[in-house]
Amino acid sequence: MTEPTIFRDPDAMRNWVLERRAAGERVGVVPTMGALHAGHVSLITAARETCDRTVATIFVNPTQFAPHEDLAKYPRTFEQDRARLAEVGTDAIFAPPVEAMYPAGFSTYVEPPSVAASLEGTIRPGHFRGVCTVVLKLFQIVPADVAVFGAKDFQQALVIRRMVRDLALPIEIDVRPTVREPDGLAMSSRNVYLSPDERRRALALSRALAEAAHRVASGERSRTAVEQAMRAILEPEVDSIDYAVVAEPESLECPARIELPAVALIAARVGSTRLIDNRRLD
Ligand code: AMP
Repeated sequence: MTEPTIFRDPDAMRNWVLERRAAGERVGVVPTMGALHAGHVSLITAARETCDRTVATIFVNPTQFAPHEDLAKYPRTFEQDRARLAEVGTDAIFAPPVEAMYPAGFSTYVEPPSVAASLEGTIRPGHFRGVCTVVLKLFQIVPADVAVFGAKDFQQALVIRRMVRDLALPIEIDVRPTVREPDGLAMSSRNVYLSPDERRRALALSRALAEAAHRVASGERSRTAVEQAMRAILEPEVDSIDYAVVAEPESLECPARIELPAVALIAARVGSTRLIDNRRLD
């Protein structure tokens, strides 16, 4: 068990990383918003497997939330997070105050790549602008060799891979599989919002994705047919569906005929909680 060093100051954090790298060590970073669960832990474990030093960042980034979204009530559990990160052997935690990331007069933003336009980008305008801006800034403060992200946020991982390529950022992006509860629900910091009844109904997302995978494995290639099959499972259980689609995994385009590999993606509201999930079809 290592007690992680906690950094609040960007310059102190950057100096620590630069020293480690100057000593020949490979550094991995796992960006998070805290309220850590087994999904986050799997990313830290992945970083530890390929790196000498692992940094977790914990920052609830205000610019990726719209005014009506859950920024104020987003779970903040720093002490538990710190203990969990210590258990899994994290070397450093970067947990800046908002003013360190967004000093007075902050006005420079990243224009996200075109893959940010659809799905989450349509439903949450400005979300990926906030994500790209904070991730680029975190990469400046934690100049690691590799950053590890979860496939749970499929479009986010794609957006970040594109940003890194388009802007020639000197960092490798490693995307790891979604960690699920034993019954299939994708782990999410937002699952704590669910009442017992909502928690049961939330299973419709993973069930709908399993149905999409089953249909495609059985030879179905009509996108409309697969999307209707997902909706038939979702509609009786969830309170609203933002999207339930089958897309091409690199462009997120949705051609009428499914070509493999493809990805099924869902965003739906259960009670007042918005959940997302996805599954590769290949
Ligand atoms: P968040 O704290 O929600 O911003 O997520 C931080 C990182 O953890 C992102 O790269 C997410 O994709 C990843 N993540 C969230 N949930 C899971 C999960 N269930 N399995 C694997 N990675 C996850």
